[in-house]
Amino acid sequence: MPDIIHLLPDHIANQIAAGEVIQRPSSAVKELLENAVDAAATEIHLIVTDAGKALIQVTDNGKGMSETDARMAFERHATSKISSINDLFSLQTMGFRGEALASIAAVAQVEIKTKKATDTLGTLLIIENSEVLTQEPIAYTNGTSVAMKNLFFNVPARRNFLKSNTSELRNIIDEFTRVALAFPHIQFKLTSNNQQVYLLEATSLKQRILQLVGNQYQTKLVSVQEDTAYLNVHGFVGKPDTAKKTRGDQYFFVNNRFIKSAYLNHAVANAFSEMLQRDSFASYFLFIDLDPKQIDINVHPTKQEIKFEDEKLIYAFVNAAVKHALAQFSITPTLDFELDGDIQQLSSVSQPLTQANREAVYNSSLYQTFTQKNQAHKIESSGNLKSWENFYTNTTTHSDTQNDTIATFKEDELFTQQYAEINEANLYQLNNSYIVHQTNDGFALIQQQYAHQRVLFEKLVAAKANKQIPVQQSMFPESITLTPPDALLLTDLLPDMQILGYNIEPFGNNSFVLHGTPADIRIAQGKQDIESLLEHYKNYSNQYKISKRERLAMTMCWQQSIKLGTALTTKEMLQLVQSLQQCEQPNTSPYGKKITVHFTENYLQNLF
Ligand code: ADP
Ligand code: MG
Repeated sequence: MPDIIHLLPDHIANQIAAGEVIQRPSSAVKELLENAVDAAATEIHLIVTDAGKALIQVTDNGKGMSETDARMAFERHATSKISSINDLFSLQTMGFRGEALASIAAVAQVEIKTKKATDTLGTLLIIENSEVLTQEPIAYTNGTSVAMKNLFFNVPARRNFLKSNTSELRNIIDEFTRVALAFPHIQFKLTSNNQQVYLLEATSLKQRILQLVGNQYQTKLVSVQEDTAYLNVHGFVGKPDTAKKTRGDQYFFVNNRFIKSAYLNHAVANAFSEMLQRDSFASYFLFIDLDPKQIDINVHPTKQEIKFEDEKLIYAFVNAAVKHALAQFSITPTLDFELDGDIQQLSSVSQPLTQANREAVYNSSLYQTFTQKNQAHKIESSGNLKSWENFYTNTTTHSDTQNDTIATFKEDELFTQQYAEINEANLYQLNNSYIVHQTNDGFALIQQQYAHQRVLFEKLVAAKANKQIPVQQSMFPESITLTPPDALLLTDLLPDMQILGYNIEPFGNNSFVLHGTPADIRIAQGKQDIESLLEHYKNYSNQYKISKRERLAMTMCWQQSIKLGTALTTKEMLQLVQSLQQCEQPNTSPYGKKITVHFTENYLQNLF
């Protein structure tokens, strides 16, 4: 038997490894932007064509590379940023793995131009399939330009896996936004398909936020600033009235690195708790700076999740910092803890965080106050994010679970002949939220919002190109200016929205004119409607595998449905219940919620 084990050829090994770092165009964008930042550039220009599928190019005026370094940079594990394992714990740079350029060269056609200020000539390198095709001296300005063409040209399976241009471009804009927020003193430019999307002049953090999320936030940002020996938290939170229905503008940076953390998100949400309506989300742009020794950013290849040495402590600090900020700006008059005293304590809790100190912190009143509250939501030990996800989902489905226990009765027989005799005399509204409908053998309790969602949804999905939802033309067309990513999304949705009764005309420069809204659905609020529609759509676009039209219909029925707490006339109730009866699926809302609970005479008797 011959031996069967062999080493993979380099280019295959590289392609496999590349899959971890470069999953889609936006991952390459992130790596290239971070390299430019690490190179101390003050101006960075990102150019993409075809949502990065054809071209991603990052040009910077940073320190550039020598001829040898440029060549070396494309080797796997080639980095100038760390040289020993200890360096990992004092990182000042965004990159350190030395994998990005090697990965990019494995899955795209790369052309790099670079020159150091101290050199007279620069270097041009062309690399394909990890192989250097060209290396020659060129005249070039100081800095570096990396252009990668035809991403995944040699890995068709991955190329096919990419999403639509709109969705890939949105991912790119997300990454761009994150880096631009973290480095406001750097000028960033973004050009897509030869059109300038952003030109962000170097500025302060506050102005950078406004450049990105829009000037309407001008007076709506509350500054957060807490410095302690253990960590600093600074940045901005949006005043409660900027809260959104989806998790839009929520940013955490740890040592200037964007991270996702459901756990810390909860720390902010909790600080806002009473001030926000249910199901709405605060905007925040928060920067946590701490000794790199206290975190491990090495846990995730794209470095978006990090592990904190002491997560609970950070939770308490972030929570306190936001509460403090909100209180200082008199956003809320009543706060249930002693602010200043406790905040003072923050600085004394660490220095350095020995076991004894840690215990002292855990026993401190500050920590107790915060954790006791959190205990109600069962904080697991650090790193366990799963339970937090559950926490979120539980809050939204809570009322449903209750329904489920009662509603095992006759659900399927709900819309049988007993309902035929529905009339104004046997309808009654409870709490402005539920329609009580007396039936032949008991009564049914109908959740009015879910019922209306179902009715609207079926009406909307029935709309077709030649059977559009009628438009109510407005007398005073309203103009709407959106952020570039939202403008892209709306452009993409326009044909479907037209069928659903919206008459919107693109006006260039991220602007649109709203000429008409769906007739006989509800009094529309124009601009606000569009904004909340886009927001909600974004929220659902990742969760359901359904067509654009259906997603829009889900969004619209959510938006337009009568809410709990709305008084209905008997006539309106009658109309709603009759329309529900005619639905194809009258028993569940489009979001899968139960609409009706039936109480039979039999069941009622057994209750007594
Ligand atoms: P890492 O950033 O983790 O070190 P990369 O593969 O991204 O790894 O880059 C490898 C090396 O190439 C970097 O350590 C840096 O020395 C050099 N390099 C990459 N991009 C640039 C750039 N835009 N300007 C100057 N040097 C760069
Ligand atoms: Mg890098």
